[in-house]
Amino acid sequence: MKSFIRTDQFNFIKRQVQNLVNGHATANDDGVRSALKSMTLERVLVLFPLIDEEQAQLLQPISLIDNKEEAEAFLSQLKPYVMPFEVSEQGIKKLFPKAKKLKVPSLAEIDLRDIAYLSWTDTTSNKRYIVINRDSKLIGIEGSFTPSNQKGVCSICNSHKEVGMFLVKEKGKEQGTFKTKGNYICHDSQSCNKNLTSLDKLNNFVDLLK
Ligand SMILES: [Zn+2]
Repeated sequence: MKSFIRTDQFNFIKRQVQNLVNGHATANDDGVRSALKSMTLERVLVLFPLIDEEQAQLLQPISLIDNKEEAEAFLSQLKPYVMPFEVSEQGIKKLFPKAKKLKVPSLAEIDLRDIAYLSWTDTTSNKRYIVINRDSKLIGIEGSFTPSNQKGVCSICNSHKEVGMFLVKEKGKEQGTFKTKGNYICHDSQSCNKNLTSLDKLNNFVDLLK
């Protein structure tokens, strides 16, 4: 079976399964427990309208999860079916032709199944780079990043976390003029990726700034 689950979908499943385990611990009624299980499975299946028999069988055990250990075992069985973020160093460099000596993070050190987007900061230029893969096409944005040193809502993952302002500078209509556009995003892009349970906000964010 080919991998068919996006990283954000895997995170969504993980969150649902965690909620199930928590709900299970507090529910003291068998009827409530089994309702929770089937609701969780339903919520997950909604993500995959075009699922085939084999894929459905892989997700079905959600309705059997009773505790944390079983949840973890289920998730680790599912992980190999998460599609890795498709990217190459060459592909990234092409996205930022103006950035000479671009320092691309070592892709071999990243579990590409854990990320729905790639982001890193070049500490020498203080620039933050963001790369997404939409319909097998890489899109890159670069901007400045200023930590706000406080918590706020991230416009990519929608979580309340330590954020900073990501600003993109673009040429204005008149020659020599610039305008800036930006939004608050997580300081830590690794944890941002973990909190991503849908790509909607990420796509909006990129559309707004691109
Ligand atoms: Zn975030």
